[in-house]
Amino acid sequence: MRPDERGLIHRDTSRSAPVPGKEQLASVSKPLLHKELHIHSYGQYLRRRFGCRVSKVNVDAGFTCPNRDGSKGTGGCIYCNNVSFSPRDTQSAIPLKEQLAAGMAYHRTRLGSEKFIVYFQKYTNTYASVDVLADLYRRALDHPDVIGISVGTRPDALSAEALELLAEVARTHYVCLELGLQSMDDAILSRINRGHTLDEFLGTVQRASGHGFDICAHLIYGFPGELRSDFLKTAALIASLPIDSIKLHQLHAVEGTELAEMYRRGEFVPLSLEEYVSTAVDFLERLPARVSIQRLYGSAPLAISVAPCWGLKNNQMWFAVINELRKRGTWQGCRVE
Ligand code: SF4
Repeated sequence: MRPDERGLIHRDTSRSAPVPGKEQLASVSKPLLHKELHIHSYGQYLRRRFGCRVSKVNVDAGFTCPNRDGSKGTGGCIYCNNVSFSPRDTQSAIPLKEQLAAGMAYHRTRLGSEKFIVYFQKYTNTYASVDVLADLYRRALDHPDVIGISVGTRPDALSAEALELLAEVARTHYVCLELGLQSMDDAILSRINRGHTLDEFLGTVQRASGHGFDICAHLIYGFPGELRSDFLKTAALIASLPIDSIKLHQLHAVEGTELAEMYRRGEFVPLSLEEYVSTAVDFLERLPARVSIQRLYGSAPLAISVAPCWGLKNNQMWFAVINELRKRGTWQGCRVE
């Protein structure tokens, strides 16, 4: 047992399973893993499935969230300021077609992407009548280079009608349902004002599986009072569920949130970069290779970023985690497969 820089006591889980040595890396057959990255990246998954470079294009379709408008809660999750996870050109006042054109042009030029997935990211993108959803999804798909949609939502905001609609879209296009879990600990979910429980997440995953679309789970590490050993159990939970990909990021505070106020009052002590990277790698080592990795860090515009401020660009954050895997000579799933 050891105290970390936040004074929290963690069980040392680093010896809970044998870590393969570097010499084993070359001999293990791991067709899903990227040889250089040591993980099953989502980009690689899309390339394998669609035969070309595919990018996600974020759009803001003007939704709100039941955890903000009072129907489920008010104030939202304590870390939520949607500006922090929305690119500049995605504002609901801009017509969907223009948002898409700008996003596709950006990814074509910057990454050479040939096909696109329209990502309904901001707020709760199933929180409307099924007619409104059907119209939005149809307009998003109305471009020859758009192969599908990715829809971010809450576990308690997927109606039977919305689920049926996504299943229908999935018969002709790629669909990914992105469900925010964030933590598997109900006490943490309550403290961060998520407004749903682990059971609600599990129930929604069960309802959504088997309909021909992918399911992605969103996770955060670094909540006040969260034990590293407890967070690592999330890998086993994900492994036990029909979840196809994950997004993981560190808890970070941005302006305009309760978390930023907690930070100023000393009630939120952010993770160090080293602790986050080391825990993310411990997590990846416990996550089966069949689950692809969409994200490994969180970022926010500098102007609203409060803490932690690690001073790294997005690709440096990504490679901080990847390089730790390489340094250890381990890979995604090496402790469980
Ligand atoms: S569910 Fe998402 S959009 Fe709603 S308050 Fe929480 S983080 Fe914000």
